[in-house]
Amino acid sequence: MSVELRYRGRFAPSPSGPLHFGSLVAAISSWCDARASKGDWLLRIEDVDQTRSRPGASDAILATLEAYGFEWDGPVVRQSERSALYAAALDDLIRRRMAFACACTRRELELAAPDKAGERVYPGTCRQGVPTGREGRSWRVAVTDEIVSFDDRLQGMQEQQLARDVGDFVLKRADGLFAYQLAVVVDDGLQGITHIVRGADLLLSTPRQIWLQRQLGYATPSYLHHPIALDARGRKLSKQAAARALSPHALSQLREAWTFLDQPEPPSPPESVGEFWRWAHAAWNARRLPPVIMLPAPRSCS
Ligand code: GLU
Repeated sequence: MSVELRYRGRFAPSPSGPLHFGSLVAAISSWCDARASKGDWLLRIEDVDQTRSRPGASDAILATLEAYGFEWDGPVVRQSERSALYAAALDDLIRRRMAFACACTRRELELAAPDKAGERVYPGTCRQGVPTGREGRSWRVAVTDEIVSFDDRLQGMQEQQLARDVGDFVLKRADGLFAYQLAVVVDDGLQGITHIVRGADLLLSTPRQIWLQRQLGYATPSYLHHPIALDARGRKLSKQAAARALSPHALSQLREAWTFLDQPEPPSPPESVGEFWRWAHAAWNARRLPPVIMLPAPRSCS
């Protein structure tokens, strides 16, 4: 008899700036989906890339989430405090000869052919060892040549041939910081996340995360990649690209994001944030999400 695990979802903003409309869409989707399954919803600040973190951004994110009525379960987890866990996972892979030191510089790698998404596929230069006279700068994992597939709850079947489409990817960067791909896999694994609901801009990262989960002995969660908000020029709204911060008008922004997600309209307009959430938690229907990868953001938010 299989035992159903209790739903554990998460919202994982990077503190590279204040929350914007795109982050609100991700927060609403992941919280409502967790609530609809009577699950937990954890908050993780993804500040592993300290070169992108902005001072004060993580406090501002927490304050905005509170003002918007979000309630997360348990303590906030911060990646900047979890380096020892990422180091242990990397050491494990090094011991098993699955991770290798790489001496290549960015400039050298720019000569490799880009893949469909414009990412450079690692040509395997240091896989058998760092060339004589050179020193390892980063750590990469040696991917096995296999097709990784998963059934996204919204986007359907996805597959990627890791060796061809991604290549040996970085786990620890030349600047000494652990890579997002390693941190997210270790965190989702150790936090027992069963359901990941996040933006479709991460769809192409999922196969390598699933593959890494398998190597590190973590269970693979279920995935739903929701449509993401774009600016007027068709680019993803992002904190780095200085997307406009969410306004203090929580209720109107929540309603805009709700409409963006194609969720059912309430019979009468909610008059408070609390009323909005009571409606939203009961009405959430993941099957209504538009099954397209990208949608333009409402004009007021671009
Ligand atoms: N930290 C990422 C972001 O803010 C999200 C990563 C994830 O959900 O796996 O876009």
